[in-house]
Amino acid sequence: MTQKILVLPGDGIGPEITAQASRILAACQARGLDIEVEEGLLGGAAYEVHGEPLPAETLEKAKAARGILLGAVGGPQWDKIEDLSKRPEKGLLGVRKQLGLFANLRPAITYPQLASASSLKPELVAGLDIMIVRELTGGIYFGQPRGIEERNGERVGFNTYVYSESEIERIGRVAFEMAHKRGKKLCSVDKANVLEVTILWREVMERLAPEYPDVELSHLYVDNAAMQLVRAPKQFDVVVTGNMFGDILSDAAAMLTGSIGMLPSASLNESGQGMYEPCHGSAPDIAGQGIANPLATILSVAMMLRYSLDEPALASRIEAAVGTVLDGGLRTADIALEGTRSVSTAEMGDAVLAAFEAQ
Ligand code: NAD
Repeated sequence: MTQKILVLPGDGIGPEITAQASRILAACQARGLDIEVEEGLLGGAAYEVHGEPLPAETLEKAKAARGILLGAVGGPQWDKIEDLSKRPEKGLLGVRKQLGLFANLRPAITYPQLASASSLKPELVAGLDIMIVRELTGGIYFGQPRGIEERNGERVGFNTYVYSESEIERIGRVAFEMAHKRGKKLCSVDKANVLEVTILWREVMERLAPEYPDVELSHLYVDNAAMQLVRAPKQFDVVVTGNMFGDILSDAAAMLTGSIGMLPSASLNESGQGMYEPCHGSAPDIAGQGIANPLATILSVAMMLRYSLDEPALASRIEAAVGTVLDGGLRTADIALEGTRSVSTAEMGDAVLAAFEAQ
């Protein structure tokens, strides 16, 4: 059956990097992948045309798509919009919410060719391959009640950290499945020494464990997890955690890899429908210059093939093509080696495509 794919270039460097990723999608199509690709507007680009960051038309296309490829949204020109509901990032949050994309997969992979770009010693990070599974639609970012109010003559700010058993269980299952398919190690991160909500989190993870007998489950408090991530990151395979801890730990893990321009991500719902995007933002400082690194977006296509389209062989082929290109010494400016020429966004796209076709 033909699967629908929606490409949302977004803002800043978004159109430049999705253009390269779309060429790879087209190459997959030429090799028999049965997809129909369309484009839509999201973020600032949509606001300019429709006065809304998530127009009804885009939402409709998103709901109908099996996979959504997003560039990035946002930019300084929209930071002044007073109505917060019209800001570009609300478009992104709207898609996540409307599609129920509760499972955020954030791989942190250090390509051996780029190990020297990490802020840690190369031997600590060379070959690093962690998958952080972050709960994306619950926890303290969404819990009610929340607000700032007057109490006893002063203002008090408050949020609610809440997870139901069913929310914990569904993200737990995603993480156990992932560990089962990878290195068979799952580390659940909580703060069960202080927060009741994460005592429940730990209990539910323990309850699921017997269903995945080949997966070794461990637990870490979030403070220790942060330390271990920078002390000995290769001890981790899959990490599962809630929305806020995942937000912070996945950014820290991203930095271990040396370049944000290399990291893809996926956000999935229960039916495997997903939105795929690079971890970085719209990089307005370099937008329009043709120098952005398209690899995170190209690798996001590989994630889409693996997690929404059930095409692991094509996914591996794209990942191998990226490896080949890096082996050949090709670098965009953000990952450039001293003394080497940096290639443009399009030249990098050309090279990955050629390596993909050559396999
Ligand atoms: P950013 O990730 O856009 O940029 C940070 C730095 O990394 C910049 O110097 C940028 O040039 C560089 N960079 C990022 N991606 C790159 C790439 N592919 N190739 C080469 N260099 C790259 O983060 P920021 O500057 O904090 O945010 C800029 C805008 O992006 C803001 O409007 C922010 O709200 C938005 N943003 C969007 C998303 C998203 O759409 N998912 C995520 C984060 C930030």
